[in-house]
Amino acid sequence: MFVSDYAATASSVYTQALSIISSVEPRISDAIGAELADQRASLKLIASENYASLATLLTMGNWLSDKYAEGTIGHRFYAGCRNVDTVESVAAEHARELFGAEYAYVQPHSGIDANLVAYWAILNKRIEAPALERLGAKNVNDLTEADWEELRRTFNEQRVMGMSLDAGGHLTHGFRHNISGKMFSQHSYGTDPETGLIDYDQLLADAREFKPLILVAGYSAYPRRVNFAKMRAIADEVGATLFVDMAHFAGLVAGKVFTGEENPVGYADVVASTTHKSLRGPRGGFLLSTAEYAPFIDKGCPMVLGGPLSHVMAAKAVAFAEARTADFQAYAQQVADNAQTLAEGLLRRGVRLVTGGTDNHLVLLDVESSFELTGRQAESALLDAGVVTNRNSIPRDPNGAWYTSGIRVGTPALTARGFGAAEFDRVAELIANVLANTTPVTASTGKPGKAKYTLADGVADRTKAASAEMLAANPLYPGLEL
Ligand code: PLP
Repeated sequence: MFVSDYAATASSVYTQALSIISSVEPRISDAIGAELADQRASLKLIASENYASLATLLTMGNWLSDKYAEGTIGHRFYAGCRNVDTVESVAAEHARELFGAEYAYVQPHSGIDANLVAYWAILNKRIEAPALERLGAKNVNDLTEADWEELRRTFNEQRVMGMSLDAGGHLTHGFRHNISGKMFSQHSYGTDPETGLIDYDQLLADAREFKPLILVAGYSAYPRRVNFAKMRAIADEVGATLFVDMAHFAGLVAGKVFTGEENPVGYADVVASTTHKSLRGPRGGFLLSTAEYAPFIDKGCPMVLGGPLSHVMAAKAVAFAEARTADFQAYAQQVADNAQTLAEGLLRRGVRLVTGGTDNHLVLLDVESSFELTGRQAESALLDAGVVTNRNSIPRDPNGAWYTSGIRVGTPALTARGFGAAEFDRVAELIANVLANTTPVTASTGKPGKAKYTLADGVADRTKAASAEMLAANPLYPGLEL
């Protein structure tokens, strides 16, 4: 994916850029160089990470960063925004075309910001707009103090229903550590204890009882596809707005791996996403919506966002353009195929997987029941062996949200380097071998420890050597000499 005509030019661009940075603060140019070396040398299996193209990365480092442009395209609170207007229009056009959406908003600085824009757009459409109409007010400034206080209380009484954290939901789906949990009353839906899958009948029954204003679909650690037609039907039945957070799987939607009822666009009222996970863009967020929700989403800045990051919107445009190519579709399919290979390889080696497998880009290993390890021990032992993953809760996790019992493993990044079935089967073998050779260290209380472990002699070095061979055969940014 990275073999490009411009790699040689990029080498001299980066060399010169780093020497300029070094003349001001060498610790920063050193850290940038060291990060590339680290990323080149490890098996990056964090499901939410990826490698953006050099074109996308280069688009971010320029003077678009210096321009303020609060507002929307052609309607800014600052003068001199014609070039930012071009950047934002091109990015939004690519996003609409790529996802077949009626409307796209590309200003959010991150996934959390995109979700906040979504929540407030929905609150403003469903709660504020009807209240203003009832009270004969044009906007909130026309309200009396008493009406304003009443409206603020009404915002705070609203309910949101999203997937529970241990089933794979995200903090922004109404949990107390995030502002969404302080804004809304939250009720979560889990997964079936036997299959680990979303139980849509149970979800409907819960939604009938809880009556959410917003039904949230989407996840960070659920290894399966979601049926958005069913989610739409449930939302309709209870009068909820359907909001889909596709931060994790946007690349699979863009790459036409998730189609029909597995594609949220066309079913959801509002879709939010990050750009930097499976989509392989710059760090950032964006939203898609129906035309009906567009004017409310457009108020993202200044509602919850500051001035847009114009240099990042430019990089989003480049990444969206890349995602519209046949190459990207092949990449997305390979991400899903590789996850299958990885899951089958782990199952064959006796590892228990949550839901028994995967049909998206990630696999969730139950390391407690497979190896009697906590997620924390497994994550650290794998890191010692150069395998970068992250610990994650599993449904009804016996070790809680800090130590956890799971390891989440994703295929987007290594697929971008060119890893295919043979490499991912080898990755499964390396992971299973490291975990089988990791032993928890008993705590001073005599109970099994949750953090300390030992890894059998030689395993880390042998794993690193095996990885190095695969990494060398699939270089990161080939031709980029740094
Ligand atoms: N939504 C989901 C489903 C996520 O997994 C994440 C990130 O992990 C986010 C939102 C937040 O994205 P960001 O870190 O860009 O704010």
